[in-house]
Amino acid sequence: MPYFDVVIVGAGAAGLFCAAQAGQRGLRVLLIDHAERVAEKIRISGGGRCNFTNRHLDPRTGHQHYLGQNPQFARSALSRFTPQHFIDLVEKNGIAFHEKHKGQLFADRSAQDIVRMLLDACALAGVQRWQPCTIETIEAEAACAPRSGFSRYRLHTSQGLVQAHNLVVATGGLSIPKIGATDFGYRIAKQFGLPIVAQRPGLVPLRFAGEDWAPYADLAGVALPVRISTGEKKPAIAFDEDLLFTHRGLSGPAILQISSYWQPGQPLTIDLLPHLDIAAALQEAKASSKKQLPNLLAQWLPTRLAEAWCQHTPAWQGPVNQCSDKALAQLAHSLSHWQITPSGTEGYAKAEVTLGGVDTQALAQQSMQAKQQPGLFFIGEVVDITGWLGGYNFQWAWASAYVCAQALQAASA
Ligand SMILES: Cc1cc2nc3c(=O)[nH]c(=O)nc-3n(C[C@H](O)[C@H](O)[C@H](O)COP(=O)(O)OP(=O)(O)OC[C@H]3O[C@@H](n4cnc5c(N)ncnc54)[C@H](O)[C@@H]3O)c2cc1C
Repeated sequence: MPYFDVVIVGAGAAGLFCAAQAGQRGLRVLLIDHAERVAEKIRISGGGRCNFTNRHLDPRTGHQHYLGQNPQFARSALSRFTPQHFIDLVEKNGIAFHEKHKGQLFADRSAQDIVRMLLDACALAGVQRWQPCTIETIEAEAACAPRSGFSRYRLHTSQGLVQAHNLVVATGGLSIPKIGATDFGYRIAKQFGLPIVAQRPGLVPLRFAGEDWAPYADLAGVALPVRISTGEKKPAIAFDEDLLFTHRGLSGPAILQISSYWQPGQPLTIDLLPHLDIAAALQEAKASSKKQLPNLLAQWLPTRLAEAWCQHTPAWQGPVNQCSDKALAQLAHSLSHWQITPSGTEGYAKAEVTLGGVDTQALAQQSMQAKQQPGLFFIGEVVDITGWLGGYNFQWAWASAYVCAQALQAASA
């Protein structure tokens, strides 16, 4: 029966990086994935250019860009494997990249360059890959002929039986099931008694329905920069990003970011003109202009949005110089404090990430090893650590994989 120091389940971002790192440290590594194609999420990420990390991630406070029951858990890994470490690798491999927005780094040519870099590193490190390969059952030491001093796992797979000292689970989250996402990692966690934090889609477009939404239903394609927040009274968090109207609701970076913080039933508050004192601008226009209000607003907002905004309120349709101060104040308030409640999300089919996952309380933050199950590790998105949009999720995948590989080496020394 083939035997390895470590079997890694899931050949995505975290699994590939961990496999290469562990192989480079002299460990015998087997990487298993059930999908036909390797690293599909990297390939489609960042619009095909892979936003592979974020320069703004400060290793000392990196957890601030992450969600989970305990984002502080991510600090250890993020401080030991920083964005600069991954940038160094990308540069060493001659992959050209650029910064797009708020520290986000993208490959110039294609996400395939990052996939190729990881695959080459695995090949060079002697990593064996079984793909496509389905794992039917996993048995741990107690059930399969224990050998003292070893934490041994036996996996029954579609390619036969395999044994390993260590098992690393890197099966990712539930997003985009059509390219291979499954709940397998959570099931392994449950099998070994690890707690799971309930999952929900994150970085996901939001849907809207009903009367409140009717005036905006035909605005698909309209985009503008906004400030967005959620939370009933005190906003939990706010983002300055672009908003996009879609056929079924709202999307764009502003919505994706806030969606990870949004709870069903909560309204969103959107400032459609975050860089303008709209109340003062309307008063100024009243003193000097005879423009119809929708035409005036079109100076600052996309024309279709300006028209839709005014069309259901008679007081906002005449010339600005004939509008009452009260109507102008209400208009200003509506634009800077647009409150609207999503009816739901677009779900895992459209979500970039999955919130929740293996409870970090059950894992050691220095190694990603299960505290109660020697030799069992969880890395990447399967863990209850979720990053903001902008390269933070890949950085978590690289960093958690790296510290896991270090721990595997230490355990085998
Ligand atoms: C459209 C899209 C765009 C994105 N863009 C970015 C971006 O630009 N920057 C960024 O930081 N993040 C981005 N993300 C998020 C990022 O892709 C993930 O957070 C990251 O890939 C997680 O890495 P992972 O290795 O944990 O999981 P994954 O990369 O999802 O890999 C999991 C692997 O496990 C395999 N697997 C699953 N179930 C089984 C099973 N039962 N048996 C065997 N193998 C299994 C899967 O086939 C897959 O290969 C994007 C996500 C999506 C969906």
